[in-house]
Amino acid sequence: MTAEDLGRFDVVIVGAGTGGMCAAIEAAAAGARVLLLDKLPGMGGMLHIANGEFSGAGSRRQAARGIEDTPERHFDDVMRLSHGKADRDLVWRTVRAQGDTVDWLEDLGFDFDPATPGLVHGHEVYATPRTYWGVELGRSVLRVLRRRLDEAVRSCAVLPLLGTRIRRLLVEDGRVTGVAGTGPGGREVVARGGAVVLATGGYDADPALRNRFLPPGCEDALVACLGHATGDGLVMATEIGADVSRDGHFIPVMGLIPDPGRPGFAVDYREAFLEFAPAYRTPHEIWVNRDGERFVAEDVTGPERRERALLRQPGLAMHVVWDRAIAETAEPLIRNGAGDWTRERMAAECARGRWIAAAGTLEELAGLLGVDAAGLTGTVRRYNAAVRAGHDPDHGRAKLPTPIETPPFYGITSVAASLLSRDGLRVDGDLAVLDREGVPIPGLHAVGEVLGNNVFAGDNYVGGMSVTPAMTLGRLLGARLAARAAAGDLP
Ligand SMILES: Cc1cc2nc3c(=O)[nH]c(=O)nc-3n(C[C@H](O)[C@H](O)[C@H](O)COP(=O)(O)OP(=O)(O)OC[C@H]3O[C@@H](n4cnc5c(N)ncnc54)[C@H](O)[C@@H]3O)c2cc1C
Repeated sequence: MTAEDLGRFDVVIVGAGTGGMCAAIEAAAAGARVLLLDKLPGMGGMLHIANGEFSGAGSRRQAARGIEDTPERHFDDVMRLSHGKADRDLVWRTVRAQGDTVDWLEDLGFDFDPATPGLVHGHEVYATPRTYWGVELGRSVLRVLRRRLDEAVRSCAVLPLLGTRIRRLLVEDGRVTGVAGTGPGGREVVARGGAVVLATGGYDADPALRNRFLPPGCEDALVACLGHATGDGLVMATEIGADVSRDGHFIPVMGLIPDPGRPGFAVDYREAFLEFAPAYRTPHEIWVNRDGERFVAEDVTGPERRERALLRQPGLAMHVVWDRAIAETAEPLIRNGAGDWTRERMAAECARGRWIAAAGTLEELAGLLGVDAAGLTGTVRRYNAAVRAGHDPDHGRAKLPTPIETPPFYGITSVAASLLSRDGLRVDGDLAVLDREGVPIPGLHAVGEVLGNNVFAGDNYVGGMSVTPAMTLGRLLGARLAARAAAGDLP
C-alpha cells in the first residue's frame, strides 16, 4: 500500500507536548511552514498531569517583587543541586533564556499562582525564589500554549496532525529528510521536512525500556507518568545510529501509591499522592520498610536524603503507619495537585480500604501490609518512647507530635516512582542529534525529555528543569530552524 504523502514543510515536529508546541509556535512566528504531529488525539503531552513548575531568573515578575536574580545565579544553583553532573553547556543555553520564557508566558496571559515566584520544597530548594506555577498547574501552561498555537494554525503556518504515530525516520544520503508513520484510520503517511525535530518525550511508561537505563535494583520503581512516554523518538533515532546517554542515575519521586488495578503503575498523581515534605505538612506518622524498621527521620527537610534512603529499602517500598488519634487530628496525608483532600475525604478513604489498610492491632496491620510483625511492634514501641522522651535516638527526628497507640491502626504502602526519563539522545549545543561518533546527524534535532533529564539536573531533581528547558530550548530551536529555512540553509 502506498503511503499518503502529507507534503513538504520547512520543519516537521514529532510530538505536540511541551517542547514540540513551543518549537512550532516560534518556528511559525519566524515564518516557517510547520507540520506538527502527535500520536494522541489531543495536544499537551505531559502537561496534562505535570505540576508544570517552571523556573527562570531575571523575569519581570521577580523584579516587580524586588527579587534580585540573574541567569548566572540560576546556573550556579543548578550546578550545585545537580552535584556538578548536569551538562554545563546545555544548562547555560537554557537558563540564560528561561527568564525570557517566563515573561513570554506572562505576555501570553499565563494565570500565575499569586504566590509565585516561590521556593518549592518538593525537591531540593533553590537559593532564590525563581519557580513559578499556574493556578491549574501544568494545564495552565497548556492553555496559553494552545491558544498561541491555535493562532498559528488559523494562519496556516502550522498544520497539526493528531492521531498520527511516527514510526520511522526517512534518511537519504545520510540526511534525515522526513518521517513515516500511521495516521488516523490506520492509513500510512509520510512527510518531508528541511528539518525534523523529535519532541516525543521520555520512555518511562515503557517499564522494559526504562529498566534498561535504571541502575540495577531499581526495577521495582512505579511508573508515575502518562502512557504516551514510550521512548518512540529515542528508539527511532537509535535505529539510524543516534547516540544515547547511559549515566546510570536514578533518584525516585516519593509518595506515589501503587495502583491495585495496574501492577507496576502508580495511582494518577492528579488523584492522590502522599505529602511528605515537612514544609507543607507536619508528619505525624512513621515510615517503615518490610522489616518493620524506620529508615530515615520522617521530618528530614532535604528531599534528596529521604529519596536516597528509600532507594536502599527492599523493593523500594515503604509503609506509612498511623493511628486513630492521628487520623482525627493531623492534616490529610493524602493530597493531589488540586489540594482537594480534606480530613473527611481522608477518613472516607480509610474506611473504603482501597489503598489504606486498617486493623485493630499492629500485628494484624503488619500482616495486611506484608511487613514483619515483630519488627513493626518493636519499632512502634521505640518510637512511642522517643515521643515521650522528646528525643529520637534512632534517626534524630525533631517533630515527635503524638505516640501511635490508639486503635484502629492504619497503614499505606508507597513505592519509589519514576516520572521522567533520566537518559536520552545526545545532542550538541544546537540540539542536533549526535551519532555514536559524536557527529551531528544532518536534518535531525531533538528537544525536551527525549534528551533525558540528567543533562539539566544531573543525578537529582532541579526545580522546573524539565518543563522549562523543553519550552525554552524548544522556542530557540523553532526560531533558529525558521531562520535557517528563510536563509535557504535547509534543503
Ligand atoms: C506527574 C508529573 C509532574 C511533573 N512536574 C514537573 C514540574 O513541575 N516541573 C518540571 O520541570 N517538570 C515536571 N514534570 C516533567 C515534565 O512534565 C516533562 O519532562 C515535560 O513536560 C516533557 O515535555 P516533552 O515535550 O519533552 O514531552 P511530552 O510533554 O511528554 O510530549 C511528548 C509528545 O510526543 C508525542 N509522541 C510520542 N511519541 C510519538 C510518536 N511516535 N509519534 C507522534 N507523537 C509522539 C506524545 O503523544 C506527547 O504528546 C512532571 C512530570 C510528571 C509525570
